[in-house]
Amino acid sequence: MLMKTCPYCQNASFSSTTLGGPWLCPSCGEDITHTPVESPHRPVQTGEAANGKNPFDSVRKFFRKLIKAGS
Ligand SMILES: [Zn+2]
Repeated sequence: MLMKTCPYCQNASFSSTTLGGPWLCPSCGEDITHTPVESPHRPVQTGEAANGKNPFDSVRKFFRKLIKAGS
């Protein structure tokens, strides 16, 4: 499972199958194929965290559930 943060709309995008293929942001439709892949298993360093609300918290919980469910 891979994760990218769209540089256009800042929404997280997930995929497990698009390596090597086009990766379009599901929120805004922009091509983020060449955006670096992030690891959902580590805290994401963003300026958003500085204001006390981390938009990636729910994302990490989502991945923890997936991992516990078995891959
Ligand atoms: Zn986007």
